[in-house]
Amino acid sequence: MDMQTSFLDRLFESGLLIETGVDGLYGRGGRFEDVIAAFERLIDRYGAGDGAEAIRFPPGMNRAYFEKSGYMKSFPQLAGTVHSFCGNELDHIGLLKCMDADEDWTAEQKATDIVLTPAACYPLYPTIAKRGNLPEKGGLYDLQSYCFRHEPSNDPARQQLFRMREYVCMGSQEQVTDFRQTWMDRGQKIMAEVGLPVEIDVANDPFFGRAGKMLANNQRDQNLKFELLIPITSVAKPTACMSFNYHQDAFGTKWGLNLADGSVAHTACVGFGLERIALALFHHHGLDVDQWPAPVRKALWG
Ligand code: ATP
Ligand code: ZN
Ligand code: MG
Repeated sequence: MDMQTSFLDRLFESGLLIETGVDGLYGRGGRFEDVIAAFERLIDRYGAGDGAEAIRFPPGMNRAYFEKSGYMKSFPQLAGTVHSFCGNELDHIGLLKCMDADEDWTAEQKATDIVLTPAACYPLYPTIAKRGNLPEKGGLYDLQSYCFRHEPSNDPARQQLFRMREYVCMGSQEQVTDFRQTWMDRGQKIMAEVGLPVEIDVANDPFFGRAGKMLANNQRDQNLKFELLIPITSVAKPTACMSFNYHQDAFGTKWGLNLADGSVAHTACVGFGLERIALALFHHHGLDVDQWPAPVRKALWG
């Protein structure tokens, strides 16, 4: 049995995660959720003075926005779409026959107007663009959403449905790169408060295919993405628990996000992987929250 399986098994045995029969799709026990709620309050404390506008989208987004985002160009392998039965009574009889015969009943399902959200910030850009020019001081938003990525794995830190807490900044190049640096510093302080060892490194997104290799290299060369890494299931390959992304004016141009003076906005987003952070806490401090070091408990529960 490898390390990954055994940590996952211990999470199941302790009731922190609940098996569903699908890799990367888990229920959460109450004590797991308590840790995520406490950690989010800690994030709130760090972000409190900034005046971010809180917005919560459900874990599905407008398919038209998803299409325009270009996600299928970059990450077709990760996307999840919502399909439904849209037939008549006759089609329904066919559907049930198909299911009875253990044949593929899903082929007749039709795409709905909803796609599963791949990252918490995706629904935000078109929403803000619709409001017109940004205010004089730019835009700052506080998001949290379940996100879907089709990347089944027995690593408990790689789930298919997981929560991302994000802050998104829209403004001048200087504003959004300052914002990103501020959260890189805060991220390290937050993790120190809860006793987690971290490392920051430049990173790239998993762009699909051969053309994707070039996009990934370009992203690295320009320092557009950084990750805060914490060892969870491997010390040699620590897990990205936060990411810090500078999009330059790519989203501003795509969505028509303009500053008060009409020029194109630059954007950056900072994401916390909430399940990964909870797993890092359980991995480093043990599965029994009552036994966690006093300073860690204090940071989380006061
Ligand atoms: P990785 O390189 O590990 O796949 P990523 O670069 O795809 O991570 P981002 O797209 O930057 O991650 O997403 C923001 C944050 O969401 C990550 O820093 C991570 O904490 C979390 N996250 C990403 N994918 C998953 C997943 N499959 N399961 C749980 N958390 C995830
Ligand atoms: Zn984002
Ligand atoms: Mg990934």
